[in-house]
Amino acid sequence: MNKRPSLPMDTITSSSNAEIKMLRSLHERKYRRQTGLFLAEGMRHCTEAVQMGYQPMRVVYAEGRKADKGMAALIDACQKAGGRVLPVTPNLLSRISGKDNPQTVIAAFSLRYGQLSDIRPDSEAADIWIALDRVRDPGNLGTIMRTADAVAAKGIILIEDCTDPYSVEAVRASMGAVFTIEIIQTSSADFIEWSRHWPGQIIGTALPASKDYRAANWQKPLILLMGNEQAGLTDDLCKTATQLIRLPMLGRSDSLNLGVATGICLYEAIR
Ligand code: SAM
Repeated sequence: MNKRPSLPMDTITSSSNAEIKMLRSLHERKYRRQTGLFLAEGMRHCTEAVQMGYQPMRVVYAEGRKADKGMAALIDACQKAGGRVLPVTPNLLSRISGKDNPQTVIAAFSLRYGQLSDIRPDSEAADIWIALDRVRDPGNLGTIMRTADAVAAKGIILIEDCTDPYSVEAVRASMGAVFTIEIIQTSSADFIEWSRHWPGQIIGTALPASKDYRAANWQKPLILLMGNEQAGLTDDLCKTATQLIRLPMLGRSDSLNLGVATGICLYEAIR
């Protein structure tokens, strides 16, 4: 008779384990809000998160991978934070990630939101912020966070009801940038009020705008203001812009994908 190899004593093997259920539930925004936690996958991103000062409250690794490079530091950070270290079967790791080929480690970190009042406007600084009006697609948001990190932007300002930057999809698409940029959530009214005191440019992007993006004044500090995937920017937000710009559309499509449009503008901003 085939004998199953014995597992270390503490390996979790059952999907009905309360910790596994809690970690699975973090795929839903409601439970991320309830627990204050979100998931990040893979040694590289989890290690970077710790380096950026995020505390791993759960570290889940595939049984037998405890000696992997970086794992000891991650486990140590979790224990210091008062979190739980959970060795699990590969099958359970796959259930937590929702993927057939999961990474060998998944960690749960605390959600972190800044406030508009945390931003110290400095007319001398070369700061770039990206303000997003009701962004809906987690892939777009993740891509924008990744591009924000690539151009050393300070962070993103999420206006009104945006997709969750801490969803599994957005975190995956951000490729770790979710840990390196600041994330601020606000209402349209608060943003409009706050923007009155912004000392630099606020560059709004809109299809009807007449100024070509190459003719804009990209002097920093600046806020790049991007609109919703379907509806674009609201009129009220357009009014906060010091310049309204457009990217030329030479073919049959009437607009660019939000993530692509943001990327083009950000690279123009650092050119
Ligand atoms: N139907 C929407 C509209 O009328 O604005 C299209 C929205 S577009 C898919 C999403 C956002 O990407 C826009 O609000 C704007 O911020 C940016 N965008 C996309 N293409 C653009 C372009 N050609 N010029 C300026 N902004 C653009």
